Amino acid sequence: MQEELDIETLMAHYAEDRAAYHGAVVPPIFQNSLFTFDSWEAIDKAFDDRVNNCIYSRGKNPSVSMAEAKIAKIAGGERAKLFGSGMAAVSAALLHFLQPGDHVITIKNIYGPSNNLLNVYLRRKMNIETTYVDGTQIAEFEAAINEKTKIIYLESPSSAIFSLQDIQAVTRLARANDIHTIIDNTWATPIFQQPLAMGVDLEVHSCSKYLGGHSDVVAGVVIGKEKDITEITVNEYEILGGKMAPFEAWLIMRSLRTLPIRMLKHQENAIKVAHFLEAQPKVRKVRYPGLETYPQYELGKKQMCGYSGLLSFELDTDDLTKIKHFFNSLKIFQIGVSWGGHESLVYAPAISYLKELPEEQFRGMGISLGSIRISIGLESSDDLICDLKQALSQIT
Ligand SMILES: *Cc1c(COP(=O)(O)O)cnc(C)c1O
Repeated sequence: MQEELDIETLMAHYAEDRAAYHGAVVPPIFQNSLFTFDSWEAIDKAFDDRVNNCIYSRGKNPSVSMAEAKIAKIAGGERAKLFGSGMAAVSAALLHFLQPGDHVITIKNIYGPSNNLLNVYLRRKMNIETTYVDGTQIAEFEAAINEKTKIIYLESPSSAIFSLQDIQAVTRLARANDIHTIIDNTWATPIFQQPLAMGVDLEVHSCSKYLGGHSDVVAGVVIGKEKDITEITVNEYEILGGKMAPFEAWLIMRSLRTLPIRMLKHQENAIKVAHFLEAQPKVRKVRYPGLETYPQYELGKKQMCGYSGLLSFELDTDDLTKIKHFFNSLKIFQIGVSWGGHESLVYAPAISYLKELPEEQFRGMGISLGSIRISIGLESSDDLICDLKQALSQIT
């Protein structure tokens, strides 16, 4: 019966067993570290299937399991495992497939900490080699494959420059070469993109972004086949110990109820803001896959059914004083890292890069000094546009 319901209905009710907790309309938080048993036999039996029995909260906890069941459902996966952060989920997914000396192919603009994990940490600890591709041409992936290639790790759209990879073409290529695929689907969310149905082995998310959506949780999730997620649970989850807290899982379950409706509003607002920005003479370029003028718009339309609220644009100036003045003039957009919450945020990549690189080298990276990243929240799009308009008028 539940199989036939729409996603909004499922997020409201799926995996909730109200009879088990006095009919409470909102499930309680199972804020306990361990579970007790009646007898030697009972705990002995529980250990026979410890992934599916509640014994200790570094394993299974009902609050965490409820949220996982909902996430697996929206993503079309057999099973999901929540982690204490997006990076715990990313590292668990990679470690699940990797052996020392393996080779990974990923995209040049991969999320920074995921890049550090591959190219610094795993290189040093496990001799993992990583090859970076632009990701827009399938031939590049093909050319990067060698006999040690174990994983193709995608991030589409990428959270840095929103470039897309053709997911179906990549999974076809990977299958033919006995290579696993992982995708970071944080930008699109399962509401707008379903990578598992396109043949990806593991889908990862930072739940700190849209799945949490209220800027009150740091968490991550891995979704995939029963076999992979069970192995990840007994290995990376239980042994490395990056566990999910019951309260945070409960907050995510709260968030999932509104995920479908929130994503539609993020999309509606972001498309309006992107169109506004595109028409401004003081804006050189807008990067947003939902714009018809976006270079990969057709591919986006083929593999996504909507667009979230993170985008960037370039001010038509390289004068750092003017760029800072625009940035500091915004009133509704708050200055901060992260994205995907109810509130609109602004950040400039130059703030991070200029700490590590001389200005000349930063300019050579293809990201302009006046590149501004905004996360479009759930406020009124009219108010957001007014705020951008008044800040743009400050640039003279
Ligand atoms: C934020 C983010 C992560 C990491 O998630 P945390 O919850 O911060 O650990 C991974 N991938 C992308 C694309 C992100 O934006």
